[in-house]
Amino acid sequence: MNEHQGILILAEQRREEIHPVSYELLGKGRELADKLGCQISAVLLSNNKIIKAEELIYHGADRVFLYQHSSLQKFDVRNYKHNIVKLIKEIKPAIFLIGATHFGRSLGPRIAAALNTGLTADCIGLELDESGNLIQIRPAFTGNILAEIKTRTRPQMATVRYKVMTAHKRNPQKQGEIILRNVEMMPGMLTILKAEQEQQINIADANIIVSGGKGLKKASDLEMLTQLAGLLNGVVGASRPLVDDGWIGKEHQVGFSGNTVKPNIYIACGISGSPQHMAGMRNSDIIISINTDPSAPILRISDYGIVGDLYEIVPKIIETIKKTYQ
Ligand SMILES: Cc1cc2nc3c(=O)[nH]c(=O)nc-3n(C[C@H](O)[C@H](O)[C@H](O)COP(=O)(O)OP(=O)(O)OC[C@H]3O[C@@H](n4cnc5c(N)ncnc54)[C@H](O)[C@@H]3O)c2cc1C
Repeated sequence: MNEHQGILILAEQRREEIHPVSYELLGKGRELADKLGCQISAVLLSNNKIIKAEELIYHGADRVFLYQHSSLQKFDVRNYKHNIVKLIKEIKPAIFLIGATHFGRSLGPRIAAALNTGLTADCIGLELDESGNLIQIRPAFTGNILAEIKTRTRPQMATVRYKVMTAHKRNPQKQGEIILRNVEMMPGMLTILKAEQEQQINIADANIIVSGGKGLKKASDLEMLTQLAGLLNGVVGASRPLVDDGWIGKEHQVGFSGNTVKPNIYIACGISGSPQHMAGMRNSDIIISINTDPSAPILRISDYGIVGDLYEIVPKIIETIKKTYQ
């Protein structure tokens, strides 16, 4: 155990832009590293183009391990896993943190399995015990309790939800080291014939979300919400039953087992407000709900609650916006 020192975070990039969750991991990681008196490093895999790896230093990293190869532009889990596992075996961090994005959720368990270590998924808090072990805090039993989990093996691995940790203020004076590493490609395994579908929407970054729930009668009625979201320059969200029924893709799902969102405005149409749904949107700046049932739990956390039929109210809002702004 004593062989393992320091903290490593995975710096996620998409289309050569560093994902903000990486800065959040650095913010929390820096705090933990200062308490432990150790270094914090980031590992970044990207295309050959110049990616601003120094931004990771300005946001708290002491070292950045940079892997650059044209094949890394697209997320191929085998190559990512192979290079990261090799690095971890070499530098032996005590803690390895990954963002709980689609990318991180896919990569994290594979790395943990390869290293024969534990992984706590979807953490919303990280602390240290008196011996410097990582306490990984995550909702359990569908959000009814907060579990505090410790890992006996090393590294202690956790995926951390996006938008729950705070990034440190950028400090361009901060010094650090960028270490270039050779990329090792996985030899002749399967050829991927079907390219992974690019994520069309990134609901976690949306400023305005118009979400639909089981108050909608049929899949095509989502069109009404798409129209409203389009007028507001927002995106469409959904409660889980709509995703389970195949009405809309999983990337639109808001909640405990979907995406955590924090938009400026969240409009919930025909959503009752289960604990699992609210776990993903309750930190929105302004919540507006439309529900026929005045006792629906979502109304209790709403800034504006409209008790009424969404089939009457949503078209009226659309009409008013069109009249006023078009
Ligand atoms: C492990 C686990 C994880 C889960 N994860 C998630 C998750 O990530 N996200 C998620 O959303 N759920 C999740 N769920 C499911 C969750 O428990 C609820 O079943 C779900 O959120 C309910 O969705 P809903 O509010 O759309 O439907 P309902 O609870 O059926 O609510 C429909 C609402 O629409 C209202 N309504 C009906 N007609 C109209 C109308 N014409 N106009 C206006 N209002 C109307 C009703 O009054 C009602 O309040 C999870 C469950 C489990 C067990």
